[in-house]
Order: sequence, then structure tokens, then C-alpha cells
Amino acid sequence: MDFAQLKLPPALQKVIAAIGYSRLTPVQERCIPLLLDGNDVIGQAKTGSGKTAAFAIGLLENIDMGSRTIQALVLCPTRELVTQVADQIRKIGRYLPNLQVRTIYGGRPAHFERRSLEHGVHIIVGTPGRVLDHLGRGTLQFSTVKTVVLDEADRMLEMGFREKIEEILSNTPSHRQTALFSATYPPTIEALSRRFQKSPVHIVVETPASEMPEIEQRLFRCNQEGKADALLAFLTTRRLDSVLVFCNFKVRVDELATKLSKAGLSVDRIHGDLEQHERERVMAKFRNHSTRILIATDVAGRGLDIAGLDAVINFDMPSEPEQYVHRIGRTGRAGLKGLAVTFVTDAEGPKLERLREITQLRLEIKPAASLGVVKGKALAPQMPMTTLSILGGRKSKLRAGDILGAITGDAGIPGDQVGKIEIQDRVSFVAIARPSAKTAYAYFQQGKIKGRRFQVEWVK
Ligand code: ADP
Ligand code: MG
Repeated sequence: MDFAQLKLPPALQKVIAAIGYSRLTPVQERCIPLLLDGNDVIGQAKTGSGKTAAFAIGLLENIDMGSRTIQALVLCPTRELVTQVADQIRKIGRYLPNLQVRTIYGGRPAHFERRSLEHGVHIIVGTPGRVLDHLGRGTLQFSTVKTVVLDEADRMLEMGFREKIEEILSNTPSHRQTALFSATYPPTIEALSRRFQKSPVHIVVETPASEMPEIEQRLFRCNQEGKADALLAFLTTRRLDSVLVFCNFKVRVDELATKLSKAGLSVDRIHGDLEQHERERVMAKFRNHSTRILIATDVAGRGLDIAGLDAVINFDMPSEPEQYVHRIGRTGRAGLKGLAVTFVTDAEGPKLERLREITQLRLEIKPAASLGVVKGKALAPQMPMTTLSILGGRKSKLRAGDILGAITGDAGIPGDQVGKIEIQDRVSFVAIARPSAKTAYAYFQQGKIKGRRFQVEWVK
């Protein structure tokens, strides 16, 4: 479909031609007509699929240029995204004379933003925290808002913005149009949508597996009993730091975790039976590379915000082709090719046929024996990490810099020994190279962060 078919106002039609977009991307093709018709929409598609232009066109079409009031609000997770999205809205709106788009985000003086809001604005693009600040001070008000867009909604929720978003939405007119864009659709987004959208149309654009050249996809045939050994052979002969393994059943997750752990691999597991706080610990350890291998069911894996994995393994063939695409989409670090390995038994053959049919995948299937057999001990990661949890987080105003400062400055540990520092609301997770972790732990028994004592524990 091309843009001419969209019946856009001339100013938008003209700019699209000027920008050089000729055809709509799939997410645009499906979302823009719905948005133009006034529907609430959930647009789910991978990064880079053109979601920004989709909602930008939708909201610009709805702006009454004759009225200098705030008519659209876009919330984004970070300052960088706010800037990018605002730039793109300005670009697409550049033939709308005197269109006023303002950005709102933390880290710069609020009075500067306040002044820029005084002269009439059509569109606000901001981060939830700072937007709520302005709302609280009365320097912003949303009674004239017609369209609200939650961009990268999954990331905003992961960053702990749920309550802020809810409060902001409650301050907009209930007859507004609400569009939600996200790369994933975890239950938390579903809940948000249920509360704040009216009969939303859920658009899912899957990337065809055949269009994932950045992922090396390999298939191995073996029988069910042989899968674990084949996996072990694969894992012990490659230096992979971060591997996600999918099984179709909880019991299999448990069995496999036990087996790999007995073989000396750094492994953890996640499935629906784990308590929320337990899941968070498991996830934090995997994200910060204290755990190399995470075994998961799809249900547990769906909401996981992890990308850039060295490999994704389908220990069991997924039931649906979409599931396959969704699972393997997480591998591939920036600029590096990802790796997806799938084990297929004879019984799983029909699922593979369906996958091949739907995704147009032309993949050769090799015998698992070609992976070799386990010889000796597993290759150790370059720098084994371990995780400490600090019982304090955002709510106690802890920032990553404070923790890093205490570890490198006060405890005297070299900075290259410290990995990812993840701050959550009430707890923070710090990855530290194993030899230094004891020193850090000992320091925290007496020592302080930002002048305060925090309880620190090993995350097992
Ligand atoms: P997303 O938000 O889905 O991650 P973006 O909206 O940032 O993706 O778009 C990614 C890139 O694709 C941008 O550089 C954008 O200019 C470009 N783009 C968007 N729509 C089109 C189109 N219809 N034709 C060509 N390029 C497009
Ligand atoms: Mg985007």
C-alpha cells in the first residue's frame, strides 16, 4: 500500500512525498487507517518498523491548527526517545504552519520548560516523571487533549512508570483516543490497556523468520532423550555468555536446569510457578551476566525484557510459528549475528513443516550427533560475575552512580570489576566479578552508600 491511498490532508500527503517514504511499512499500513478512524489501537511490532510515523500521522491529522491548545500527548520512556519522537513529529508536521511541539523531560531546569509552555502548544512529548511534575504544579493541563500515545509502553512499565502513566491518563479527558505502541505484549501492558483503552484493536506485526538474516538459524534432529546431551555438547563447546533456552513445559524446565547445573554450567530457570520477587532476582542475575544460561517456558519468557542474547535455544519445537519468531528475535547483539538453535524430534516434524511453510524458511536439518559429545569441563566465561542485592532502590533515592562510587571509591574495588547495576523501586542488583564480590560484601557490612547503611545480601 502506498501513502496516496490514505486520504491524508494535503499538508501531510506532501510531506510524506518530500521525506521520501513511498510505501507504508506493515505496522503503518494496519495502524494508520484505524487511527484516522478514531480507534484505540495497540501496535505491536519490532524496533525499526516505523511505529513513530504511524502515530505521528494519526495524531497530526487530528490537530486543529486554529486552536493553540494541547491536543496530543506522547509519553516515551527516555529523554533520547522524547527528542527523537518530537523531531519526527515536527518533520512530518512541517507543512502545518506554526505547529508547536514541545518536549518535557528531566535533567534540565523545569522553569525553562515552563516558559516554553506559556505561549500555546499543540503537542507535548515527554517522559512520565517530568510530565507528572508539570501536571502537579499546574504548568501543564490536559483537559483539551484528544489523542494520547504511549510509545514503547513495555519499556515504560519495565522502568517503573506504571503509576505515573496511570495518573497522567486519569488527568486527560475520558473521550480521548489512546494508542499504545510496544515491541512486546506482556500481561502488564494488557492490564494497562484494559484500564485505559476503549475496544482497542490489537495489531501484531511479526517479522517473518525468513527476514531475519541477522540471525543464524540452525536445526538439529534428535530423539527426546538425546536432547539434553545434545544441548550440553552445544553449550560446553562454545563460549556463549548469555543463552536463553525455551522448553514447552514447566517440568522440563526443572529437569533440564538440574541436569545442566550438575554438569557444572551456570544455569537458572524461570516459569510461572515462581513468586514475583524470585523472578526478579533470576532476571536481574541473567541480565547482569551472573547467570549464563536461563531456561524458561514461553509464558515466563513472554514478558522478559532481554535482547542481545548470544543464542536462543528451542529445546522443544514451539507449537506456533509466531512463537518461534518471537523467541528467536531476542538473539543478536548490536551489530553481531545472533544464533538460534532448534532441536526437533520426529514427533515434532509436523510443527517444523508448518514453520517452514509459514515462514518460508529453507533450513537444512542436521543430526544432533554433529554437535559432538561432551568432553571435559565446560568452558568458563571470561569473567565470572556474582550478584549482590542492596535493600534500597529508587524509593530511597539510590542511583547507580552512588553504588558504583561506594564500591570503587570507599571499598576500593577497580571499576572494571563491576558489571551492571540495576536499580529497582526497593532493591538494587549489582554484578561484581567473583574475586571482588567478597571484598564488596565485607565493605557493606559496615560501610555506607551516600552516607547511609543498607542491608546487602548475596543473590543465590
Ligand atoms: P520504531 O518506532 O518502530 O522502532 P521508527 O519509527 O523509529 O521505528 O522508524 C525506523 C526508521 O524507519 C526511521 O528512520 C524512519 O524514518 C523510517 N521509516 C518509517 N516509515 C517509513 C516508510 N514508510 N518508508 C521508509 N522508511 C520509513
Ligand atoms: Mg519507536
